Amino acid sequence: MTQEELFKKLVAHCKEYGFIFPSSEIYDGLAAVYDYGQLGVELKNNIKHYWWDAMIKLHHNIVGIDAAIFMHPRVWEASGHVGAFNDPLIDNKDSKKRYRADVLIEEWMAKQGEKINKEVEKARKRFENFDEVMFRQTNPRVLEYQAKLDEVHKRMADALNANDLEGLRQIIIDLEIACPISGTRNWTEVRQFNLMFETKIGSVAEGANKIYLRPETAQGIFVNFLNVQKSGRMKIPFGIAQIGKAFRNEIVARQFIFRMREFEQMEMQFFIEPGTEMKWFKHWKEFRMSWHKALGFGDGHYQFHDHDKLAHYANAATDIEYEFPFGFKEVEGIHSRTNYDLSRHGEYSGRKITYFDTEKGESYVPYVIETSIGVDRMVLQVISASLKEEQLENGESRIVMSFPPALAPVKAAVLPLIKKDGLPEMADKIVDKLKFDFNVQYDEKDSIGRRYRRQDAIGTPFCITVDYQTLEDGTVTLRHRDSMEQERVKIDDLHSIISREVGFAKLFEKIVNKD
Ligand code: ATP
Repeated sequence: MTQEELFKKLVAHCKEYGFIFPSSEIYDGLAAVYDYGQLGVELKNNIKHYWWDAMIKLHHNIVGIDAAIFMHPRVWEASGHVGAFNDPLIDNKDSKKRYRADVLIEEWMAKQGEKINKEVEKARKRFENFDEVMFRQTNPRVLEYQAKLDEVHKRMADALNANDLEGLRQIIIDLEIACPISGTRNWTEVRQFNLMFETKIGSVAEGANKIYLRPETAQGIFVNFLNVQKSGRMKIPFGIAQIGKAFRNEIVARQFIFRMREFEQMEMQFFIEPGTEMKWFKHWKEFRMSWHKALGFGDGHYQFHDHDKLAHYANAATDIEYEFPFGFKEVEGIHSRTNYDLSRHGEYSGRKITYFDTEKGESYVPYVIETSIGVDRMVLQVISASLKEEQLENGESRIVMSFPPALAPVKAAVLPLIKKDGLPEMADKIVDKLKFDFNVQYDEKDSIGRRYRRQDAIGTPFCITVDYQTLEDGTVTLRHRDSMEQERVKIDDLHSIISREVGFAKLFEKIVNKD
């Protein structure tokens, strides 16, 4: 199966099993907006729980807030979003399709990278004792491709940094990039497009005021810096974490929930003493990478990608990229934001936003390291990594979502073998014993094999089957999702077995022990 087919299957699976639906689907949907269904919302909540506790519970010096989506319009002037939160867009005059100029060039670069990899793979098959490093350093064709790639990379970074829109367009022309729809190179000029959604607050009669839907949650943290620091008597270094909705009018919104117009972010701003930012930047890069890797999807699927173009506020920035079916893509950004935001809010609000260091006896505007991850991208990462089609020994196949148990929407399914003779009643009792602590499902429809398959497809780690023996000796069959192994256990032991497996402690131990 190609990666593209795999991705289509993933989207279809998400809809069929109640994870994710297109928004307003009966009206043909709304582009790049999605709704979470009954299982999707559980998965999403578990991911948020994993992030929140990793920030708040594992760190004595990080606290959370929940700021409003609407903010004073001056916030976005101070933050620089009104002036500079833009993407460079370009239209193809024939297809009338709109693209991000930088993304068109990045896609060309990715193809160039694939050409190099193909040469390497060809050579690997041809030569015994193949030395890949040597080959990459000496093969004339690879060197030629690489030189071109490096040149384009540099030109793009220079054009973006200089805000040189004509220069960006020229790269597209020089590389002869064609529109994937029309196949032509009939391009418009490149224009800047502001990504913020606007709306009005107050009745029109009172004189409506333009406000924005926040494009990031971070500003809610910055404007509350003094409130939290003073009321919590926080001492630097300390962090403020927040989970909430953000909105961006993305030009090209595709790849399912990877790029949405309404999405959710989990952001943490860590306030530090000026001059210590590189130490903390490194610390948070490592911590966040361990958080991802603890999920067990395979360390080889992650990489750091340093930014070519730094945002107007940053002096260092990197992305954590995960290998999706459509390639390595950003799931999280880690940014050293200097004291830009707090200084600007100080300037625009006229308030003194500083921190008094009692030990040093001096005041300063704190620097900030930010970790910012999209909940939805994380959902997509978890689903991409977990959805598998397995061939079984008996020749059949099964679809299984091998979610880390802590993230699984349903923790256990209780299944009476048949629908009579007191088995459903006994199954009900087991549900009652477990339901205060775990999300459990009761299912009595269809054969037991089909019920197992249904639970595999939604990633339930445990199936508990109630049979005649249960009525006699108080034991049940416990089936493990991944190994499909079955064991006989006492009803009284179920709670502790499930609890051990699905608790977040298992994940947190991996992170903490790494530190
Ligand atoms: P991209 O380069 O993909 O547009 P970005 O660098 O603009 O992303 P940030 O501003 O750093 O993204 O936002 C932090 C995180 O928020 C991203 O790593 C991503 O997980 C998430 N995010 C940003 N934009 C979107 C979106 N349109 N849909 C879903 N998640 C998003």
